[in-house]
Amino acid sequence: MEMIESTLHINVTAVQENWRALHAMSGSDVETGAVVKADGYGLGAARISLILRQAGVRSFFVAQMGEGVELRSALGDDCTIYILTGHLPGGAPNLKRSALTPILNSAEQFARHMSQCPDLPFALQLDTGMNRLGMEPREFASIRESAMRAGPVLVMSHLACAEEPGHGMNATQLNEFRLLTEGLQVRRSLSATGGILLGEGYHFDLTRPGIGMFGGLPFAAARPVISLDIPVIQHRIVKPGEAVGYGADWVADSTRNIATISAGYADGIFRHLGPGAVFYSGDRPCPVVGRISMDLITVDISDLEKTPESLQLLGPNCSVDQFAEAAGTIGHEVLTVLGSRYRKNYFKSD
Ligand SMILES: *Cc1c(COP(=O)(O)O)cnc(C)c1O
Repeated sequence: MEMIESTLHINVTAVQENWRALHAMSGSDVETGAVVKADGYGLGAARISLILRQAGVRSFFVAQMGEGVELRSALGDDCTIYILTGHLPGGAPNLKRSALTPILNSAEQFARHMSQCPDLPFALQLDTGMNRLGMEPREFASIRESAMRAGPVLVMSHLACAEEPGHGMNATQLNEFRLLTEGLQVRRSLSATGGILLGEGYHFDLTRPGIGMFGGLPFAAARPVISLDIPVIQHRIVKPGEAVGYGADWVADSTRNIATISAGYADGIFRHLGPGAVFYSGDRPCPVVGRISMDLITVDISDLEKTPESLQLLGPNCSVDQFAEAAGTIGHEVLTVLGSRYRKNYFKSD
């Protein structure tokens, strides 16, 4: 008999279509890159990047140098790999060997880069109000002339509130970015997924979507990308008055058929979701009963005619963002937490 494993199904056609849709929104004279940090939002950076390159992506962004080194060996030479954390101490040999493009975040990083890798292309990140990463305006002013003489390939900043179109920070950061970069002979980038949706004024020369490619908000029109099936490993009839799970918290009020599935909070299914979380068998909802254990969850399948081989946590009936909302978090965290824990099945669809 074939062994049944928990499986995260990844629709690569949907990833490509979502990227193409974000590219179409970015505009025909704008380059659309792809952010594949945190192992491609948990879905496998190398595999996802190859899929995206096939769709036309030539600029990839990762957080750390080590991610960039791996991506370079997966992708070959014909694309740019940007490192969001920039040029950190000790980074020069790997940056050179893998031809990575650090996004310099401080005057100190700029000085380091100029002294250690003067021939290696670089980008700059400016802070326009998020106060997380990038040069403050005064710091930028102090190196502006020499930086422009050295010729960055890109100047970028990042929006703090792009998921909320009505938020005042968006216009404030846009103005600040314009003020800092107007007249410079350099390509500019400001927008991730949220910024693309804010409209043309935010797009500049290059956009950097991440979550939208993987079907997450704020790109509400995205095609869903992942589904997650978890095998049923046992089932039993529970009589009225019998309890299920740790703490004997849940007690049956009638005869119920309870399935035990092979995943738990150690697999990214947050303990505080249950009871209250719902799995699906096809279109049929099956509620979690009792507490979620480390690697087991008990689910009421009394409404089904027969015991299924597996139950679905994410899929047509429960999106990444519905799951995220129930868990009190965002799609980005759900993907990165779940993605690393399951066997992945990449498939193409129509
Ligand atoms: C993560 C990140 C992105 C992508 O953001 P999404 O919201 O996932 O589209 C773009 N730019 C920077 C600087 C980031 O850190």
